[in-house]
Amino acid sequence: MFIIECPYCGKRDQNEFSYGGEAHIARPTNSDIQDDETWADYVFLRSNTKGVFAERWMHAAGCRKWFNALRNTASDKILAIYKQGEQPPQIAGEDLATPAGEPVIGSGNDATKVLQPGTAGVVK
Ligand SMILES: [Zn+2]
Repeated sequence: MFIIECPYCGKRDQNEFSYGGEAHIARPTNSDIQDDETWADYVFLRSNTKGVFAERWMHAAGCRKWFNALRNTASDKILAIYKQGEQPPQIAGEDLATPAGEPVIGSGNDATKVLQPGTAGVVK
């Protein structure tokens, strides 16, 4: 459980908010001519980032307004709150390591892996 600062009401308990998924997902234009694969990507595919992640929240038990947050999904630390329509602020120096202190390499945290030439693994 953590505290979320609604940009309209101030700091409130997490229980007052509803999670809305990944932020900044653009709806495809010309929806009448899009193929099924494009729509499936829009509706179902999300980045599932470990680390700094832009997400939507709604203050369901308060003003009922939507806003965006930058949250480190590894630590649950909210780094910034901003209103819809605004660009996410730049966050510098946020550590992607987990709270347990897992090593960056070999932790399963693909977002932080740096591959060396000739090594196997996931390239992001
Ligand atoms: Zn609010």
